[in-house]
Amino acid sequence: MSPTTRRASRQVRIAGLRVGGAAPILVQSMTNTDTEDAESTARQVAALARAGSEAVRITVNTLEAARQVPAIRSRLVAMGVDVPLIGDFHFNGHKLLAQVPECAEVLDKYRINPGNVGHGSKRDDQFGTMIETAVRYGKPVRIGVNWGSLDPELLARLMDENAGLAVPKEADEVMREALIVSALESAAKAEEIGLAGDRIILSCKVSAVQDLIAVYRALAARCDYPLHLGLTEAGMGSKGIVASTAAMGVLLQEGIGDTIRVSLTPEPGGDRTREVIVAQEILQTMGLRSFTPQVSACPGCGRTTSTFFQELADKIQTYLREQMPVWKAQYPGVEDMHVAVMGCVVNGPGESKLADIGISLPGSGEKPVAPVFVDGEKTVTLKGERIAEEFQAIVDEYVRSRYAPGAAARGTSRNKKSIPIQPVAS
Ligand code: SF4
Repeated sequence: MSPTTRRASRQVRIAGLRVGGAAPILVQSMTNTDTEDAESTARQVAALARAGSEAVRITVNTLEAARQVPAIRSRLVAMGVDVPLIGDFHFNGHKLLAQVPECAEVLDKYRINPGNVGHGSKRDDQFGTMIETAVRYGKPVRIGVNWGSLDPELLARLMDENAGLAVPKEADEVMREALIVSALESAAKAEEIGLAGDRIILSCKVSAVQDLIAVYRALAARCDYPLHLGLTEAGMGSKGIVASTAAMGVLLQEGIGDTIRVSLTPEPGGDRTREVIVAQEILQTMGLRSFTPQVSACPGCGRTTSTFFQELADKIQTYLREQMPVWKAQYPGVEDMHVAVMGCVVNGPGESKLADIGISLPGSGEKPVAPVFVDGEKTVTLKGERIAEEFQAIVDEYVRSRYAPGAAARGTSRNKKSIPIQPVAS
C-alpha cells in the first residue's frame, strides 16, 4: 500500500532546490552551535549536510551572528559543501537584516516567527521590513508559527470571539485555530507587501502528536503553500523519535508535508546528525524516498547464540551509510538495495531470500554455518572467524555488479534477477 497522493501545493525554490508540488520531500536540520562562532557552525553545517540534510538552518540572533553568516558560507565553500543556509530570526530579525545586508544576501531563506516580531503597530512594521528584505534579495520565507510563541494579541482576539459564541469551543481548539490563523494572515500580509505566493512556506509546530495532526490537516485544507512539517520540542532519544515518527507518519501518509525536520534533543555527547538520519529513515521506511540501502535484522530471541548478528547488522548498516557519499554517484539506484542479517534458520533463509542480499547466521543447536542469499538464491555458505569481513566483501561485489552503470538489469530480489557472485568461502 502506498501513501496517499501528495497534496497539491505551490512550489517554492530554495537556492536550486524545489519544495512542494511534485518535488521530493526535503530533509532539513538545524545547528545548535553559537552562530557567532563561524568555525564551529560551518563544521556542524558540513556534518549535517554530509549526513544528508538538504538545507540547514542556523540561528541569527545577534549582530555578530549576522556578521558571521558570510564567513560561515565562505568556510563551507572552502570545504566543498554546497547546502542552502536558512536564517532563523526572532525578535530582532528586522534590525539584523537591515544592518547586515551581506547576511540578508548570503542566506537562502529566512524563517520568520510571526509571534516574535514585536507587538502592536511595531509588529506590522517589523514584519514588513523583513518581508521587504526578502523581496529585495529574492529570498523565500518560511512563516513558522510555534505553539510556544503564539502571537498573544491574536490569541486574545480569537478567545474573545469564541467567548461570544452561543456554544464556545474548547480552549485547545481555539489555540489550534490561532496557530493556523497566525500563519494564514501572516502569509496574506506578506503577499500584500509584495512577496510572491511561490516564495512562502508555512509551518505551525506544536509539541503534542494529536495536536500536530489536527493542526496540519486543517492547515493543508485551507491553503496551497508548501508545508514544513515537524514536531517541535520532540524530546530526547526514543521518545523524540517515536513522537516525531508517529505524528509525521500519519500526516505524510495523507500526503501532507513538503519538507521535514526532526527536532531531537541530542543526548549528552550525542551527534547532531541523528536528526537527519531519523528524518531520512521516516521517509525511506514509508516508501516516500530512498537515501541509503536498508538492513533488516531480526530482533533475536532464545535461539540466538550470541550478539554477533546484531553486531554484524549494525556494522553493515554503518558501512553502507558511510559509503553513500561516494556510491551515490558511482552506483545509481544503490539506495534502494535491501540487505538482511538474520539470527537463525526459523526466519533467516526466508527473509534473506526476500532481500537483495541476505545472510542467515546459525542459531543455537544449528551447524555453525551462514548461508548467503543473493537475489533470492543461495550462493555461498560462510563459516569461521571471518564471516563479517567475507559478507561485507560479498555486499561490495554485489553493489559493483548490480549498480555500476551498464551493469545487469536492476530490480528487487522479488524479481529474482540473479547476478553471479564469486564465492569468497564455502
Ligand atoms: S530469526 Fe531466529 S533468532 Fe531471529 S528472532 Fe526469529 S527465531 Fe529468533
